[in-house]
Amino acid sequence: MSERVIPLVDQRLTGRRATVPARHIAPTGLLGDALGRPLRDLRISVTDRCNFRCSYCMPKEVFDKDYPYLPHAALLSFEEITRVARQFVAHGVQKIRLTGGEPLLRKNIEILISQLAALRTMEGQPLDITLTTNGSLLARKARALRDAGLQRVTVSLDGLDDTVFRQMNDVDFPVAEVLRGIDAAREAGLGPIKVNMVVKRGTNDHEILPMARHFRGSGIVLRFIEYMDVGATNGWRMDEVLPSAQVVKRIAAELPLVQLEPSAPGETAERWGYAGADGAHDPNLGEIGVISSVTQAFCRDCNRARLSTEGKLYLCLFATEGWDLRSLVRGDLDDAGLAAAIAAIWQGRDDRYSELRSTLAPDTSGGARRVEMSYIGG
Ligand code: SF4
Repeated sequence: MSERVIPLVDQRLTGRRATVPARHIAPTGLLGDALGRPLRDLRISVTDRCNFRCSYCMPKEVFDKDYPYLPHAALLSFEEITRVARQFVAHGVQKIRLTGGEPLLRKNIEILISQLAALRTMEGQPLDITLTTNGSLLARKARALRDAGLQRVTVSLDGLDDTVFRQMNDVDFPVAEVLRGIDAAREAGLGPIKVNMVVKRGTNDHEILPMARHFRGSGIVLRFIEYMDVGATNGWRMDEVLPSAQVVKRIAAELPLVQLEPSAPGETAERWGYAGADGAHDPNLGEIGVISSVTQAFCRDCNRARLSTEGKLYLCLFATEGWDLRSLVRGDLDDAGLAAAIAAIWQGRDDRYSELRSTLAPDTSGGARRVEMSYIGG
């Protein structure tokens, strides 16, 4: 095991100044970036804290008790988040995902959810509001989240074997508690529920089949995520990546699968349905998904923007810097000006890191400066 080098540039201290164009063009809901990709999906990180220390996201060696988490005053308030989200919706956003860190650690998050649930798309439709959680607090909060207007939830679970799971989350948290949270989410009427498993070759890949067997026919969509070189702290190595094609092959060897069509443009997961006796997809058996940022990049229709917990706009999960929107929000700029600033940033976007990853030399890939996933959400 090679010595883990942990260079860290504190992204939270840097940021590009967002400028406001002289002419404010009214939002049309059809904003495209430099590669013609629309803005449809906004991921909002509501905290940089988490109660897990997953090695691929928030390794304990870095995010220890002395780690300088953001002070509360630095975080966008719920009102500020909702104001910013309203401009994104005016530009075409239809889906909002709340992330972190662990979003359920943010006190009274139900208030934010009810504010976001009141927003409407340009066509007057409610937004698709979802949340990604490690499930540790879900059993306690599921009902309140549903009542506040949350529609669905994605739960991270990297194995069913308690020893493996505790090794992955590095805080000794039991699988049973996460499964209890998933049941509570279902009872509260949140759905469809998705479960995300990050697959790290040599650590938890032997859990792929037990997870597939467990969730097959349950109505819950299990997705396998390739281990990614996000941030600058997880010591990522290519030989610890198990390509999704091998994940599908392993499952199909026991549980036959048929490939399914994407359910929406810009969907990150490739869908595979469990086949029935006739070889066709049996919806009662359900489906899995694979998210292959390393071996099958999906940048060409990436319609996702990310807002960090203190108001920086990131245009890619692997970005090396963000745009400071908080200064605009806390200044005397009106909504039209804020919307115009966001439009100018998105129109200049040409990010496609995963497509370029293999062509980038280590010292030009921005490795040491890539933003931490725990700071902007997955
Ligand atoms: S690497 Fe960046 S541009 Fe490509 S899909 Fe991921 S977030 Fe989108």
